[in-house]
Formats: sequence, C-alpha cells, structure tokens
Amino acid sequence: MLLLTPGPTPVPENIRLAMGEPTIHHRTPEFEEIFKTTRGLLKKMFGMSEVLMLASSGTGAMEASILNLCKKKALVVNAGKFGERFGLICEAYGIAHVELKYDWDTPCSVEDVKTALLKDSDIDTICVQICESAGGLRHPVEEIAKAAKEINKNIKIIADGITAVGVEKIDTTNIDALISGSQKAFMLPPGLSMIGLSDYAIECIEDSSVGYYFNLATELKKQKQNTTAWTAPTTLIIGLKAVLELIEKDGVEKLYSDTANRANASREALKALGLHIFPKTPANSMSAVLDDDAAKIRKILKQKYGVNIAGGQEHVKTTLFRINHMGIFEGYETPWTLNAIELALDELGRRKYDGTANRVFCEQIYK
Ligand SMILES: *Cc1c(COP(=O)(O)O)cnc(C)c1O
Repeated sequence: MLLLTPGPTPVPENIRLAMGEPTIHHRTPEFEEIFKTTRGLLKKMFGMSEVLMLASSGTGAMEASILNLCKKKALVVNAGKFGERFGLICEAYGIAHVELKYDWDTPCSVEDVKTALLKDSDIDTICVQICESAGGLRHPVEEIAKAAKEINKNIKIIADGITAVGVEKIDTTNIDALISGSQKAFMLPPGLSMIGLSDYAIECIEDSSVGYYFNLATELKKQKQNTTAWTAPTTLIIGLKAVLELIEKDGVEKLYSDTANRANASREALKALGLHIFPKTPANSMSAVLDDDAAKIRKILKQKYGVNIAGGQEHVKTTLFRINHMGIFEGYETPWTLNAIELALDELGRRKYDGTANRVFCEQIYK
C-alpha cells in the first residue's frame, strides 16, 4: 500500500536500516557525537540560533513553546484543527488568549493581526501555523511576523512549521520559535519534535524557567552540551541524522524544488480533472481537494489501487481528501495516485477516463 497521507509519511529504506541497529545508551560519548552532528545539521536547516529536540509528538513542542514564551496573552490564529489546538493549550494552562478565526480555506489577514495588536497591548505572543494541515492552507506567516514586530518588537512569534519545515525555505528573520515534528516532512516515525529558537527566544527562555518536562531552559542547557535533560529518543535521533545526511547529499534546495514541482504539477492535474483545490492559498506540503465524493474516491484508491490518502476532519471529514507531497518520493508515486483518482472519477460516472491526470502532471514536471 502506498502511503500518501500528509503525516505520517513513509520512512525511506536506508533510514529504517539506520534505526535497526542495536540500542545504544544515551549518556555515552558515542551518542553525544551523533547528537552533535544532528544538532549542527538541524541548525543549518532551520536557519536559527538553536534547535531543540524533544521526545514528544508535534503537539508537545506546541505546548512547550507556549508555556516557555507566553507571559501575558497569546493571539492565536485558528483556521483549522491545529490552529484551534494552540487555543486549547492556552485554555488548559489558563493562559489568556484571543483568537482570530477563519474558514479552513482562508489564510489569516495581516491587517487583522495588526488591528488585534493595536487594540490589545497585553498580547505578547502570536501562535500561527505556517501550513494549517487541516485544509492544506498556507498562512502568510513571514508578513504577519514582520508586521507584528513593527508594532511591538518584543512580541514573540511561535510558528508551527510541522508541515512546512523540510517543505520550503522559511524566512526565520522574525520567527522566535519554529516547530517541527518527525513524522511529516522529516520522513521518520512519530515521536520526536523539534523547536528552532531565535536569540530573543533563547533570552526569554533563560530569563524565566518554567515547567518541568517541557522546561526549555533545562533542555537548552543540556542540549548545548550535546545531551538531553531526560532520556533521549536515541533511535529517532539516529534516524534524523540519517535523514538530514540524505537531504544534504543532493542539497536541501533540491528537496524544496522537487516538493514545489510535485505540488504544483499535482494541483494542475487535479484542476484539469475538474476538481476543486480547497485552500485559497495552497501550501506545497499537500494537495487538498473539496469534493462531495471525497470519501468514495478514497475508498476506491485504497481498495483497487493500493493508495492511502487522507480524508478531512470535522465538517469536511467526508468531503475533503488530502494527498501528501512531503518527503523524498519515487517518481511514480504521485502520478500513480493522480491516475487512480482519474480512474475513480470514471468509475463514479463523473468523467470519462482519458489519461489527463498523468499527461498534465508529466507535462508540468518534464516540459
Ligand atoms: C501533525 C501536525 C501537528 C500535530 O502533531 P502531532 O505530532 O500529531 O502532535 C501540529 N500542527 C500541524 C500543522 C500538523 O500538521
């Protein structure tokens, strides 16, 4: 079965093999050497002063970032399940927050952020997804962060890049915490999260040490010494090192351009089939299509063509499908999937099969 869901993503064979070695102890020079190399490669990829690795899924990194950076009030952008989660984390900790809510296909407006900040000077942190995975939506995070810092240079920007880091080059100039997770663009099993930190974020974290397991001051101190505060997820970090070295081999720019080309060609192919791309500003991590037959199309793909793509959540549970573009792909995987969608449309009596999906995809990639 081809796994083309936007997380988890397939783990390449050489990465699986790297993780198949016997477990090593985390407090050894041997592991510290692996940790050091991984840290160095991560800092380069994130383009930030520090990157912490935590033994948690992505949500843990979201929670840690809010807990360690927000001192007064958060402004939360909610255009889907993951934006909503930032608000729920604030609620769980009794952290004051205001929400900017949008339809799942609609990006956050920079003007709305400015208005909210000018209205409420208590806001000291902004939490926003770079790609809101619920609808495959790209928020204008770089513009939001820049505008916010112009209003209040001490505001902290927490950017959830779980489906953005490893997908595209992110301008981190005005971002203070950049969150990522192992099971999306990093092509690893779930269980490891990462947070890139700006110099300003490091200062804030060191000034006010909060929490216990997710105390980033403790973690920072240890990770600067190439170890972790608690038992490190050694296997995943060994896998991460292998992933980063794999990406380095052809260069990260190739990963970004391959992903962008795949995403763009897929969108064109889907549109050529008469399908509707859901988000107004699509991210390159996935293609999200809104269609009344989405659930039926997914079922045909799974049963007849051996492809697993994702559905939607909540109000678009049965009317959205999402195809992953994150990671390193074999050339045939995406066109096979698009071709299967075209065949499914024929089976549902929607459109006579004529090979359009593959033709358009290949023209976009190879022309
Ligand atoms: C997957 C995802 C998360 C949550 O990560 P978990 O690893 O499931 O905790 C958060 N934000 C975005 C944008 C995601 O795609």
